[in-house]
Amino acid sequence: MNSIKAIAQLEELKRDRLSFIQNDESDEIYLKDIKAISLAIKALKKCPDIQDKSFNCRLCGKELKTWRSIQKGFGPVCEKKYLENVYKNQQLSMDTLLQKRGAR
Ligand SMILES: [Zn+2]
Repeated sequence: MNSIKAIAQLEELKRDRLSFIQNDESDEIYLKDIKAISLAIKALKKCPDIQDKSFNCRLCGKELKTWRSIQKGFGPVCEKKYLENVYKNQQLSMDTLLQKRGAR
């Protein structure tokens, strides 16, 4: 996600919040949202090069598409690779362990 994409998302969110405004007491909560969103847009416009890598795959760097992947930090392809690696490493350490035991 870069700042241009983020601004577009925030503008949409702001329009969504504005649609809740009814000019009565209940507007307060939506007004707070709108103010916060406006502030974020303003800040993003000042830093056009800002990028967030926390939603990218930790292995290949591609942007993650699902919340499940974001929580894991890997895309489905890299997750499989990662798990295979962990398994291989465990297998390896188990083999060396057994070898050492046999040597004794
Ligand atoms: Zn990946």
